[in-house]
Amino acid sequence: MKYIGAHVSAAGGVQNAPLNAHKIGANAFAFFTKNQRQWNAPPLEENSVSLFKENLLKAGIEPGSVLPHDSYLTNIGNPDDIKRKRSLDALTDEANRTELLGLQLLNFHPGAHLGQINEEGCMDLIADGINHVLDSTEKIIMVIENTAGQGTGVGHRFEHLAYIISRVKDKNRVGVCIDTCHLFAAGYDIRTREAYNRTFADFDSIVGFEYLRGMHLNDAKSEYQSRVDRHNSLGAGKIGIDAFKMIMRDSRFDNMPLILETIDDSLWPEEIKMLRDFCVYE
Ligand SMILES: [Zn+2]
Ligand SMILES: [Zn+2]
Repeated sequence: MKYIGAHVSAAGGVQNAPLNAHKIGANAFAFFTKNQRQWNAPPLEENSVSLFKENLLKAGIEPGSVLPHDSYLTNIGNPDDIKRKRSLDALTDEANRTELLGLQLLNFHPGAHLGQINEEGCMDLIADGINHVLDSTEKIIMVIENTAGQGTGVGHRFEHLAYIISRVKDKNRVGVCIDTCHLFAAGYDIRTREAYNRTFADFDSIVGFEYLRGMHLNDAKSEYQSRVDRHNSLGAGKIGIDAFKMIMRDSRFDNMPLILETIDDSLWPEEIKMLRDFCVYE
């Protein structure tokens, strides 16, 4: 079964996110558990937490189909000790908030070396950081998102994801989320059947589908191999609609949140419906 949704607003409180997802016909969603552009956030109120759980039930959405996204500020691969600690504290806080809401998956961007250390050094810090968050929580699964490779960020090669995972102690509590726009911009083609098969065969042999915990379904304004992260609505970008048809008909993407982060949220109900209509298994 396919679980399809979008990154919905949690304005007015996290309890609103499941209702916003339900309104657009989603049976999965992503959201921010706190303001994504601020370091500090007040703790979640007990009332918000219980309303969140209640609304999730009302919306008929399973906790396993919810993929919270971390703040844009954190960089646990930051070579500067003080800045890295601030990021680690913030990410640990987000992991705790996620657990408090009865959820298990937390999606985050791996980090950037800022030109101060090499990629391996940065990835060692990231793996260390994941181990720290796992030690400070009970059951959260840290879900590393592949990146477009903009700037000095790591995580745009499957080898990077595999390298980080190899250094995480508890392999049951680490996973990956593949963003199709980032994938394409990083130089993994999925536009034709042949390219799609090759890309996901590479993913399986280098990372392994057993680590895949979710997808971000975005078309790309950015060019193939551009390493530029610019999303577009499905079918309106450089990837094109065929890739999304193939994903929806591929059972390797069953039973995990498939999340739109496309640019026009007024199109989300249509995009979700279109994706559902693609779900005819060959
Ligand atoms: Zn994404
Ligand atoms: Zn992106």
